[in-house]
Amino acid sequence: MIKGNGRPVYEGVAIGRIYVLSKDHTIVNTKCADIEKELVRFNEAKDEARRELDALYEKTLREIGEEQAGIIEVQSMFLDDLDFIEGIEDMIKGGSDAAFSVHEIGDAQASAFAALDDEYMKARATDIRDISDRLVRILTGADQGFRMDQPGIVVAEDLTPSETVALDKDKILAFVIRQGSSNSHTAILARVMNIPSLVLTDIDIDQALNGRTMIVDGFAGNYYIDPDDETMAKMLEKKKGAGEYKAELEKYRGLESVTRKGRHISLFANIGSPDDIKYVLDGDAEGIGLLRSEFLYLGRDDFPTEDELFNAYKSVVEAMKGKKVVIRTLDIGADKKVEYFHLAPEENPALGYRGIRICLTQHDIFRTQLRAIYRASAYGKVAIMFPMIISVKEVREIKTFCASVVDELEKEGIKTSPVELGIMIETPAAAIISDLLAKEVDFFSVGTNDLTQYTLAIDRQNEKLDSFYDAHHEAILRSLALIASNAHKEGIWAGICGELGGDLSLTDEFLRMGYDELSVAPSRILELRKKVIESEV
Ligand code: PEP
Ligand code: MG
Repeated sequence: MIKGNGRPVYEGVAIGRIYVLSKDHTIVNTKCADIEKELVRFNEAKDEARRELDALYEKTLREIGEEQAGIIEVQSMFLDDLDFIEGIEDMIKGGSDAAFSVHEIGDAQASAFAALDDEYMKARATDIRDISDRLVRILTGADQGFRMDQPGIVVAEDLTPSETVALDKDKILAFVIRQGSSNSHTAILARVMNIPSLVLTDIDIDQALNGRTMIVDGFAGNYYIDPDDETMAKMLEKKKGAGEYKAELEKYRGLESVTRKGRHISLFANIGSPDDIKYVLDGDAEGIGLLRSEFLYLGRDDFPTEDELFNAYKSVVEAMKGKKVVIRTLDIGADKKVEYFHLAPEENPALGYRGIRICLTQHDIFRTQLRAIYRASAYGKVAIMFPMIISVKEVREIKTFCASVVDELEKEGIKTSPVELGIMIETPAAAIISDLLAKEVDFFSVGTNDLTQYTLAIDRQNEKLDSFYDAHHEAILRSLALIASNAHKEGIWAGICGELGGDLSLTDEFLRMGYDELSVAPSRILELRKKVIESEV
């Protein structure tokens, strides 16, 4: 038996077989025996890449707009770039196989572009990487996807949000990740999915672990590989206890979330996709307080169409049967990277081109998403909120933009319903001017994950800083009090949708501050309702 530990991000006990998610896409240089044949293979791969890019160009032009399509065109141009192509051909002539040659030259040229001062040239590094990845995929025929044929525990070095959403959620019993931070989006997803998971573990990632049995104890932060009988018996007992506690919480299902003194608070759920509705219903949420809609953009090769987005939103709104659904517009950027957005590499992505900054500068993307949300509004009770706000000017620009979308839909004879417009308060700037922002919107929802990151100057992704990331810091608590008070002065409602909202040690404090809504991982609702019902506030 091997025993190890890590930082738990969700309680519970999971037992299952291990699936190692390896990201070792090392391309080996298998010397090619027939150079002429390898050159032909490379030329055929180029033709195939061109065909793929032409189709993607047409689709992007049709569905997104000229600006984005232009980026695809730039990638196609690299297929004719002499430095790139001749560099690869020279390597093949020297006896290297085509995939390895593409990978090496692509890597060298991308690094050279990334080192340039000019921002435009810097951004070309991503294009080169994209085009060489495409060529390597065509040449190797490799589907580097990860599959689970039965439920199991995913063991990985690290998991980005894009990789996480691409996994088959129904089969994941737990994550055990060597790196990761407890504030990362992967940890947040684990909480939405109710799976006991560990980050920052001491596990040695090794393919030989595949298929072996593992126990994850999300209470103590331990994992056991090939557990002995005694450990298995102890953990089965613990799992049973967790099940009994969960069953006990069932008596809070369907009750009103009201304190002993009669103070009511709405308990909503945070989700990332329509698939998560099952957790919302199972958790007995009174609404959805944060639909992280950027997850609809992750784990795919190009932009979702307006109809795809509309269908996703509509399914969530209909499933909630008239209960409120707060849809956050896409918060791409920082750790949530999407290749087809072609975002240039940044020194400080968390302080960079992300969230509303993308929407306010790439109107086609914003319009498509807003049209889809407004169309879905006809099927239930929808509210929209905008991430990463820092100024009144942004909010006014957003409101004008939304009004133009509603107008456009009306002219097309498409039905919409009234929609509340709110903002996330997740930057210190927004917290400090929350008195001014409150005059502009229908509600506030505090994103304590980012508010903590930006207020304390602590990168929430950096696992080395986990012990410094203190969401209970007095600066955060004072900001929270200020935000609720400024909201109420203007007669609007205020909620918390960051992870702190589910922290039971602060529930009384949030009630005293006057918060109207807490939006948390669906599995936290019943426990939180118990806390509210027992509260003296
Ligand atoms: C937050 O920042 O608290 C938040 C809810 O948004 P996200 O975690 O998706 O950045
Ligand atoms: Mg945030």
